[in-house]
Amino acid sequence: MRFVPRKYLQLFSHIGLQVLKVWYRGNKVECTVCQSTFSEFLPYGRLVSRSNALCPNCLALERHRLLWLFLNQKTSFFEQKLDVLHIAPELCFMDRFEKVHGDRYITADIESPLAKVKLDVHDIPYPEANFDVVFCNHVMEHVTDDYKAMSEIFRVLKPGGFAILQIPLFHPLKDETYEDPTITDPRERETAFGQDDHVRMYGKDYADRIRSVGFEVEESKYVEEFSPEEQKRYALPTDEIIFYCKKK
Ligand SMILES: [Zn+2]
Repeated sequence: MRFVPRKYLQLFSHIGLQVLKVWYRGNKVECTVCQSTFSEFLPYGRLVSRSNALCPNCLALERHRLLWLFLNQKTSFFEQKLDVLHIAPELCFMDRFEKVHGDRYITADIESPLAKVKLDVHDIPYPEANFDVVFCNHVMEHVTDDYKAMSEIFRVLKPGGFAILQIPLFHPLKDETYEDPTITDPRERETAFGQDDHVRMYGKDYADRIRSVGFEVEESKYVEEFSPEEQKRYALPTDEIIFYCKKK
């Protein structure tokens, strides 16, 4: 299953998962997104398989379990109905977010049939100050012009709103983001940027890039607020930084 790209995994029949759920029955790990417990999570990862990663019930990964906790504890996301734009939506969040925000929750994607709206993040078809929250995770490393995409997200956010713009971090982090539009061959992209459909590899300057379009960015090492036991029980990503981007 680790070789199945995520976008297809999300369409993958749940029958296999039903079997795995029985196989992994237990109470050693707990998914923060769906509250299910298991003996362990499934292994997952494109190049290198990570053990104890994927929830067999809701398909949440480490980073999703951490973000769920962050939204719950650090924001008012679950406390009130908000206007939410969810670009490249993660399946494990979709139904749960919709339950909270109803039809004010809009999923959008350039190609996925699971999303309500088809859009290109370089040119978001919504007026200024339209959303309280925008999620756009694991997208910026794929887009032609990430500055344009970030400014579009900034534009459609209401003042007081926030965006979560997660990206993959390849450790050790480069000081500066590396991009080269002349590298287009998938295998060369894999070598240069870490994956065959990435067009850049972000460095320590990622938050500054987001700031440059107007955001105030908190680089949160939120995972460190959990004890080693909790990090283990929820199988959280210990090196994940949450980029919490606020529009003042
Ligand atoms: Zn789950």
